[in-house]
Amino acid sequence: MSNTDFALAVEDLTVSFDGFKAIDALTLYIDKNELRVIIGPNGAGKTTLLDLICGKTKASSGSIKFKNTELTKMAEHKRVRLGIGRKFQTPSIYENLSVFQNLEVSYPSGRSVFGALAFKCTDQVKAAVQAVAEDIGLVDKLGTEAGLLSHGQKQWLEIGMLLMQEPELLMLDEPIAGMSSRERELTADLLKRICKNRAVIVIEHDMEFVKQIAHKVTVMHQGKILAEGPMEKVQADERVIDVYLGH
Ligand code: ADP
Ligand code: MG
Repeated sequence: MSNTDFALAVEDLTVSFDGFKAIDALTLYIDKNELRVIIGPNGAGKTTLLDLICGKTKASSGSIKFKNTELTKMAEHKRVRLGIGRKFQTPSIYENLSVFQNLEVSYPSGRSVFGALAFKCTDQVKAAVQAVAEDIGLVDKLGTEAGLLSHGQKQWLEIGMLLMQEPELLMLDEPIAGMSSRERELTADLLKRICKNRAVIVIEHDMEFVKQIAHKVTVMHQGKILAEGPMEKVQADERVIDVYLGH
């Protein structure tokens, strides 16, 4: 298979922090429309891997290819423009703006936040906001101030803000942390919906949740891949039980 058949091809990727390899010669391929879950003990390098893919951290060596383009030397904002969306653990929504306005300012207009606010709301933007609001289950909340949303709804809004950019790869770091069990169920449905149009990488600890959403699971340990495959296979792997699931 050539690299263009994958949504993402990470090859021999390494990053050292003062000689400590947080990611160590890691190779990983994600298919188009795949929902991949990355699990592993604390400190395994999961968040660092997403940081390298989105450009927050620079790789020491190796390759990251997305849409047949090498990313390792590319600035973070250019990776966003190319179609990479990353949700961090803490939400960064505009609490004083409505749900509608939060989505509207995220529409890729090439303007600053303030420019986008002054920008006349066209039918095209309205339609995009409506479609994303349906995806994230917040159609009834479009007029609500974002600060008044529940914790889970804020997380969905932030996912929606990323969806406004129509990313071809969306990465989420522990998206259900702090959510109620109902919110977790709705988030699983949401992720299953949105991976129909893009590849999604999720870092998660909750194994019930992982089981519900994962097409494939990658287990990381000490900056390397310990195991990879369908959930049942990974769960039965002695080494995985030893370093992670057994605890
Ligand atoms: P995980 O998300 O799997 O819990 P992280 O990717 O956050 O793990 O961290 C992997 C390792 O890399 C940890 O030992 C962490 O302390 C280290 N690390 C991460 N980022 C940096 C950094 N910017 N500088 C130095 N060490 C870092
Ligand atoms: Mg982490």
